[in-house]
Amino acid sequence: MDIKNVTVAGSGVLGYQIAFQAAFKGFKVIIYDINDEVIERAKAKFNNLRESYKKDINATDEQLDQTYSNLSYTSDLAASVADADLLVEAVPENVNIKLEFYEKLSKVAPEKTIFVSNSSTLVPSTFAEATGRPTRFLNLHFANLIWIHNTAEVMGHPGTDPKIYDEIVDFAKALGMVIIPLQKEQPGYILNTLLVPLFTSAANLVSKNITDHESIDKTWMVGTGAPLGPIAILDIIGIKTAYNIIKMNGEVSKNQELLDLADYLQENFIDKGKLGTSTGEGFYKYPNPAYQEKDFLK
Ligand code: NAD
Repeated sequence: MDIKNVTVAGSGVLGYQIAFQAAFKGFKVIIYDINDEVIERAKAKFNNLRESYKKDINATDEQLDQTYSNLSYTSDLAASVADADLLVEAVPENVNIKLEFYEKLSKVAPEKTIFVSNSSTLVPSTFAEATGRPTRFLNLHFANLIWIHNTAEVMGHPGTDPKIYDEIVDFAKALGMVIIPLQKEQPGYILNTLLVPLFTSAANLVSKNITDHESIDKTWMVGTGAPLGPIAILDIIGIKTAYNIIKMNGEVSKNQELLDLADYLQENFIDKGKLGTSTGEGFYKYPNPAYQEKDFLK
């Protein structure tokens, strides 16, 4: 693998985690964001990761000091990619923002730089032409809390060079990721293709008063041996995120049942500040949700 210098564009929820994990694994990482104010905020977030890495994966202070020394920052796009082997794009999930970003980037990045997008819902063929290097472009999708939820879904578009695809697989392995290869473009990759219908069906059963949330999770946990049920997972993903996905799917497919479900989540949860684990209450109350009680499955 020829990748040594990595630039991460966007220091938001996912970008700073990707940058930190790459630096932790020994890559030289430059973080690019739109202005110095955003970058200063990102630096503060990086400091918080020290404790998480120690607690969750037993990282040592030496490893973490080395990690910080591998990180640098700039709001100058051309400077950020001047010697980049790889650019990881983690800018907002908006087609126009990403298109405009790739158009600017393609003008300043050297020929050698491979581009990958961390987009959760947009397939790479949408941006392939705008990158100016379609053969050296694909999606590499990480999960939130990358250091513990270490999946890397790798998805090319029809024009991606297979050698570049393999190089990105090697890079993701070097980051300590479990590789999830896709042979074709699939909106939602593997995880969300499975998860979205599951939590949508579960929430629908509650909204239509067919059963209660605890019975749904019990059914799933006893019936499949899974450690969590779909409603518990929904609280972790966050009701707002689930609402956005369900509402968008309802609008795209003109499906009234989904739109009604979105309204139900809005009125019964979002309007009441019950957004899931992040606010201490969603379908369950936290800490100590009912599904963790020892008699829950009896
Ligand atoms: P975010 O809104 O938290 O962060 C986006 C960052 O991009 C911000 O720091 C913003 O200042 C910066 N930005 C805005 N315009 C920019 C531009 N033109 N050039 C460079 N930077 C710009 O977003 P996020 O949640 O980190 O999502 C980023 C990408 O990662 C999206 O494509 C999203 O689908 C994907 N993703 C998100 C998650 C998640 O759980 N949040 C998980 C997997 C993948």
